[in-house]
Amino acid sequence: MILLATCSFCNRDAVYVRRYSGERLCVGCFIRSIEKKVRRTVSRFTMFRPDEHIAVALSGGKDSVSLLHVLGTIEDAFPHASVSAILIDEGVAGYRREAIEVAEESCTQLGIPLHIYSFSDLYGRSLDEIADASKGRGGLSVCSYCGVLRRKALNVAAKDLHASKLALAHNLDDEAQSMMLSLLRGDLVGLARVRPVLEKAEGFVQRVKPFCEILETEIAFYAQVTGVRFQHRPCPYKETSMRSDVRRFITLLEDKHPGMTYGLYHSLRKIQANLEGLDAKEGLQLCQICGEPSSGTICRACQSLHDLGLTTAPST
Ligand code: SF4
Ligand code: ZN
Ligand code: ZN
Repeated sequence: MILLATCSFCNRDAVYVRRYSGERLCVGCFIRSIEKKVRRTVSRFTMFRPDEHIAVALSGGKDSVSLLHVLGTIEDAFPHASVSAILIDEGVAGYRREAIEVAEESCTQLGIPLHIYSFSDLYGRSLDEIADASKGRGGLSVCSYCGVLRRKALNVAAKDLHASKLALAHNLDDEAQSMMLSLLRGDLVGLARVRPVLEKAEGFVQRVKPFCEILETEIAFYAQVTGVRFQHRPCPYKETSMRSDVRRFITLLEDKHPGMTYGLYHSLRKIQANLEGLDAKEGLQLCQICGEPSSGTICRACQSLHDLGLTTAPST
C-alpha cells in the first residue's frame, strides 16, 4: 500500500486519494466514509424499515460481499431488522465453487444465514446446459439468458425466505452504465427503471441498491483494506457487450476527469425526474407456466427456456 502524506481528517498516514474531491484518507477514515455514505443513501431513499427482513443478493464478487459487510455494520440503526444472503448457483462448471466458499466464509463470520438456490433446482437446467442448447441459434447471448433467469431466481428465492427487501450491490458505475445504455438505445422506460429503490409491484420483492452512489473503484479499495475475501475467477461466459464499451468509455472519462461518473449519474437522474410514471409496472399478470409476475402471458424466463426447447410448450 502506498502512503500519501497525511489524512485530511486525522494525523494518520493517508492511503487513498479521492480524486474528485481532493481528500486524502487513512484506512480508518476511508472505511468510515464508505459506511457513512451507504447509511446516508439508505436513509435518503428510505430503503429499509426498522423491522425489515433484508435479503442480500450475494454473487461472491467484491461488490456483493462488501455490501453484506457494510449492511452488517449498519445493523445498529435497524436493531429489529434481519439479514439473509441469497446465492444463485447458475451451474457453470468450475466457476461457482470459489464464490460459494467466499460466501460461506463471510456469512459465517457475520452470523448471516446463507441460502443457495440453483438454476438446476429452479429450472431443471444448469447454465452450461442452457448455453449448449443456445449454440448455433444466433439468438440471445448466454449472459442475456443468465440475466433473465437470475433476476427471476432472486425474486423466487427472496419470496421463499419471506424477505421484505432484496438488496442488490449495483454500484455507481453500474447505474451510470445502465442509464447510459438505455439512453443510447432510446429506451426511456429502461432509463426510468434504473433507480435506487425499484417501483413496488405485486409479486416482486422490492429491490434496493445501497451502493448506488459509490464508485466501483472505492468498493474495490474498501474490500482490499477491510480484508473482505471475494471471488476472483471470471465467469467463462463473460462477453464483450455494448455494456463493456459503455463501461470503458465512462472509465476513460472518469480517469481523465475525476467526478465525471457522479456528474453523469446525477444528470441522468434529473432527466428521470421528467419520466415519472414510465417505470410503473402496470398490467402485470401471472405467468401461465410458473406463476411469477410477467408483463405477458408467459414470463421471459419461461419463454427463453421454451424457445431453447428446454421446457414443455406454453399452455396458451
Ligand atoms: Fe451470467 Fe454472464 Fe454473469 Fe456469467 S458473466 S454469471 S453468464 S451474466
Ligand atoms: Zn484519517
Ligand atoms: Zn414463467
